[in-house]
Amino acid sequence: MTIAIKNVRVEDKLFQNRYLVDVGRPHITVRPHETPSPSLLALTRVCPAKCYEQNDKGQVEITADGCMECGTCRVLCEASGEIEWNYPRGGYGVLFKFG
Ligand code: SF4
Repeated sequence: MTIAIKNVRVEDKLFQNRYLVDVGRPHITVRPHETPSPSLLALTRVCPAKCYEQNDKGQVEITADGCMECGTCRVLCEASGEIEWNYPRGGYGVLFKFG
C-alpha cells in the first residue's frame, strides 16, 4: 500500500482557519510600557500568528485578530503582568478547520 504525502506549507494550512473578530473587545492586551522587556520583545518572534509587532517607538503592540489561542504569549508574559490574556467570548475567535 502506498500513501501519498502532499507537501503543504504550514502557512497555507493556517490560512484555512477562520477568525471572528469581537470588535472593540480584544482578548489579549499589552500593558503600556516605554521600553519592552526581553520577554515582551520575544513575542514579536514566537507568536505563530504574528500578532505582536513593534511600533515606531519600539513598543510592543498586539493585534489579536488571527490569534490561535496557543498560549505561548500567556506562558511568557502573563505572570509578569505585561499582558492580560483571556479566551475570546463565546462564538468569537479562531474557528479551526481540521483535516
Ligand atoms: S496565544 Fe499564541 S497565537 Fe495567540 S497571540 Fe499568543 S502567541 Fe500568538
